[in-house]
Amino acid sequence: MYCNQEEVKEKLKEKGLTLIKWFSNPTIGTEAYIIQLNGRSPGRTTKSSLKQVHNYVKIHRASKTRFYPTTKQQLNHEQHFNNTRYVYNHYLDLKTKQYKETKKSYSFIETAKDLTNHKKEKPWLNNSSRPAYTNKLKDLDTAFKNFYKKKAKYPKFKSKRDRQSYRISHPFFKIKPEGILITKIGLICCNLNLPKQIKPLSVTISKDTLNRYYISCSYETEIPEPTIDTTKPIIGCDYGLKTFMTTWNGSHEEKIQHPLPYKKSEKRLKRLSRRLSRRKKGSRRRTKARHNIAILHSRVASRRNDFLHKLSSKMVRENQAIIIEDLNTRGIITRWGKKASDQGWHEFTRQLQYKGTWYGCNIIKIPRFYPSSKTCSNCGVINDELILKDRSWTCPVCGVDHDRDVNAACNIFNYGRADRKLRTETGGLVKTLVEPSRQKKAEP
Ligand SMILES: [Zn+2]
Repeated sequence: MYCNQEEVKEKLKEKGLTLIKWFSNPTIGTEAYIIQLNGRSPGRTTKSSLKQVHNYVKIHRASKTRFYPTTKQQLNHEQHFNNTRYVYNHYLDLKTKQYKETKKSYSFIETAKDLTNHKKEKPWLNNSSRPAYTNKLKDLDTAFKNFYKKKAKYPKFKSKRDRQSYRISHPFFKIKPEGILITKIGLICCNLNLPKQIKPLSVTISKDTLNRYYISCSYETEIPEPTIDTTKPIIGCDYGLKTFMTTWNGSHEEKIQHPLPYKKSEKRLKRLSRRLSRRKKGSRRRTKARHNIAILHSRVASRRNDFLHKLSSKMVRENQAIIIEDLNTRGIITRWGKKASDQGWHEFTRQLQYKGTWYGCNIIKIPRFYPSSKTCSNCGVINDELILKDRSWTCPVCGVDHDRDVNAACNIFNYGRADRKLRTETGGLVKTLVEPSRQKKAEP
C-alpha cells in the first residue's frame, strides 16, 4: 500500500507536504519515509505529519547477539552476575519468611530501600551497577505478583549453575556505532544491527551454561500499521502429538512434521547423565561431563527454536488469518510430559501472536472446550466414542470417512470463520489483532 513512492508523493501534495527522504526498512519488510511540512526549518522531522498519511504503531523489539569479552571484562560481568544473584536470593529469602508468617511479602520499594542499608553491611555490593540490582528486585517483585495472580509457581532461588544475567535500563547505557557503552561496565563491542530511529529500553547481558556471553537490547520502534491482505488465505490449525500441526485452508490440507529434537537425543542424554552420576563430586571429570550435557541441551533447544521460528514466520507471511486452538499447555504437559514439551506449542503460539502484529495477520484463538476432534466436519454430529488412539473414523450419521487431524483442522477453520466478529460486508476480515501480553503491559 505504501510501497509506491509516486503515489505517496501525490498523497502528500494534496495535504501540502513534501517528501524529503525515502528509505526502505528491511527489518519490517515495508518501506517508510520521512516527510516535512512546507515552510518549516529543515532537519525537523514531523511525526504528526507522518501520521496524517497512515497510522504508525509502536512495537517493542529486541536484538540479541553473542560477544566475546576479555578476561578482565569477564571478571567484571562475573561480579555483576554473582552480586545480582546474591541480592535476588537474599530478598527472596526475606520475602519467603514474611510470606510464611503473614501471607504477604515486602513490596519492591521496601526491598529497594532496604538494599541501601544492606549495602553498608556488605560493602562489596557497591562494586556493581545500581540499575542492575533495581531490575533484579523488579523481577523478583514481578515473580511474586505472578504467583499471587496464580499465573506462576512460587519463585525459586537462582543457582550459579544456571544461565546468568543482569539487565540495565535506559539512561544507564548508550548506543555507540561500535557497540554499547554501559556505566560502571564499559564498552561492549558487538554488532546488534539496531535500526536508526529507536527508543532504547534496556540491555541484558547473559551467560549461558556453556559460558557463552550474549548481549540483547530491547527497544521501542514505530512501524506503519500493518494492513491485512485479504487476497491471502485463511487457515485453521490443529496441534497434534503425531504430527506437529495439521492445517486446512478451505480446500487443501497440510501436515507439518516436527523434528522432535529432544526425542532424537534422548538416548544420548541418558548415557551422558549416567556418566555424570558416576563422576566424583567436585572433580574435573564431573565438570566436563556436566559441560557435555549442557552442549546437548543447547543443541536441542536451538533445533527446536529454529524450526518454530521458521514455521511461524512463514505462516504469518503467507496468510491473512490463522485460527488456532487455545491450548491449556500446562495441563497437557503434566499429562504427556516430555512428549508434549518437546513440541513447543506454547512458544509457537506466542511467536504467531507477536509476529502477527508486525506483518498484519490475524491470530484467532478458539475456545478451549470446543470438541474439534469429535465433531464431524460434514454434518456436525459429535462422536463421543472417539478415543485418542483412533487416527481415522467414519461418521455414524452421514458416513463420511475422516482423518482425525484433518477433520479437527477443518472444524477449527469453520468455527473461526463462522465467528461474527470476523465478517465484514465485503467478506474479508475485520482487523482484530491479538496483542501479545508483553505489549499490553508496556502501555501505560
Ligand atoms: Zn457426519
